[in-house]
Amino acid sequence: MQKFLLTLVAVGALVSPTLAQTPEKTDPAALAKIKDEGLNRSKVMETAFYLTDVCGPRLAGSEGLARANAWAKKRLTDYGLANANVEAWGDFGRGWDIDKSYVAMTAPYYHAMIGVPKAWTPGTGGSLRKQVAYVNVKAEADLEKYKGQLRDKIVLLPVATPPQPNFEPDAKRLTADELQKMADAPAGGAPTAANRPAEANPEARRAAMLAARELRQKLGDMLLAEGAAAVLSPGRGSDGTVFTTNGAPYAADAKPVLPELEMSSEDQLRLIRLVDAGVPVEVEMETKTHFQTQDLKGYNVVAEIPGTDKKLKSEVVMLGGHLDSWHAATGATDNAAGCAVMLEAVRILKATGLKPRRTIRVALWGEEEEGLHGSRNYVKNHFADPATMVLKPDHEKLAAYFNLDNGGGKIRASTRRATRP
Ligand SMILES: [Zn+2]
Repeated sequence: MQKFLLTLVAVGALVSPTLAQTPEKTDPAALAKIKDEGLNRSKVMETAFYLTDVCGPRLAGSEGLARANAWAKKRLTDYGLANANVEAWGDFGRGWDIDKSYVAMTAPYYHAMIGVPKAWTPGTGGSLRKQVAYVNVKAEADLEKYKGQLRDKIVLLPVATPPQPNFEPDAKRLTADELQKMADAPAGGAPTAANRPAEANPEARRAAMLAARELRQKLGDMLLAEGAAAVLSPGRGSDGTVFTTNGAPYAADAKPVLPELEMSSEDQLRLIRLVDAGVPVEVEMETKTHFQTQDLKGYNVVAEIPGTDKKLKSEVVMLGGHLDSWHAATGATDNAAGCAVMLEAVRILKATGLKPRRTIRVALWGEEEEGLHGSRNYVKNHFADPATMVLKPDHEKLAAYFNLDNGGGKIRASTRRATRP
């Protein structure tokens, strides 16, 4: 979500202020047609089904994302959009997919566990059944005490923040009054990525983050050099939910790492409690993953409804969301939901036969989760390099950009128009 705001700011900052402020009259008959198509012949859930259940997880550079890109391009063409294209934005890195993933505790008794390979990690090269070793490294000096003890072991890493009891619901529906309050808030009132007060000591936070990353790198090198068999590290999340990340860089020249699974906190904590109590623990696991290095490019899906007004058709209104996700689930809320809304919006506009005066361009971004790569590079390729702000000709034609990356649930707002200065 924070990333969404950054995307919005990144693209929004490039929207020409003169175009963005031109007042427009609304057309009630057109709005009625749009509502009728959207409410009575919606395809949005079908779209969400194809993007999630059918295409599957959509990790950057993966086969799943390629499936979703191809599906979206075809669907946009079928809707009647022009110039539907899977457009390369530049070099990303290696593709990676999971072919098999299995992990269970086999001693002191059998227990099936939840664990998912970290992205861009290798497989185990067959089935392993090994003793586990708990490795708790807080500083570089701690590495020494594990040397000579980890050969052929499955290494357990500590759970930094064990899940705490939570008595708050995961989500709640805002009342009409609460929505109205948000709509009436003066511009700049609520903290956003753009206006959040400056952090007291950002350098210290950055330095701590870099130090932690460096220590993790040294630990990884040590485990590899010591001949450990694999690593089980705790994933963020609780109640069986695991938020997956990457365990190795996606760069084509990334250094080798050990097979590594991100485990549910509860399973990881049980293993650690047993080892701490001196109970011998054995884990069985098998993972198969494969890399794709033929095509290292990243892609966005782009399509247009050409404008029809002689003067305005060269202006572009863009809408979009990121199509990529992480690999352990199907990225329904982050962000198939946003993409499904945008695909439905352009479907409705085509199905109603309305003739927009400006060109409407939909863009489904790739490689967002690794650093907004798809949208940032689209901006750089088409509008301006934010580093130099040397504007390209298309920059002055961009009238507006609407982005969605808000998760699940309906988009609700007040019926009264917000007053803005
Ligand atoms: Zn997102």
